[in-house]
Amino acid sequence: MGTIRIGQGYDVHRLVEGRDLWLCGVKVPHTHGLDGHSDADVAIHALCDALLGALALGDIGRHFPDSDPAYKGIDSKILLGHVMRLVASSGYAVGNVDITICAQSPKLMPFIPDMRQTLARVMETDVDAVSVKATTTERLGFEGRKEGISAMAVALVEKIN
Ligand code: MG
Repeated sequence: MGTIRIGQGYDVHRLVEGRDLWLCGVKVPHTHGLDGHSDADVAIHALCDALLGALALGDIGRHFPDSDPAYKGIDSKILLGHVMRLVASSGYAVGNVDITICAQSPKLMPFIPDMRQTLARVMETDVDAVSVKATTTERLGFEGRKEGISAMAVALVEKIN
């Protein structure tokens, strides 16, 4: 086995009316969506930061500044694709990733298979290597008050070249 490295990521976006809710590259029907410069897919952003962190390549804000109009409204799957090319060009492959989404509502369980498939497709990895979990915070904190959604991710990468 080659050198393995691990990274973690965390992100938060505010829930607002009048925006679509994108999580793990899947549009989830809901009364509110996440606000942000991009599509505000908080789970993909945490995942990108975990992958970048594993290679000590900085963070998503450095690679895709929210002051850059090129990223306005961008599909976060494009950002993930870019991060995956950085991983590959560094000579690494993804071992596995694990994402936890903290949201009081909506119920995310029905969307998790599609989320895993979608991320695996963008990452060109086995769906077995992509875990997505969802939890409420028992109505506590900003997630519990439905003011926002947070996501955490860890990523393991292995040197292959
Ligand atoms: Mg973000």
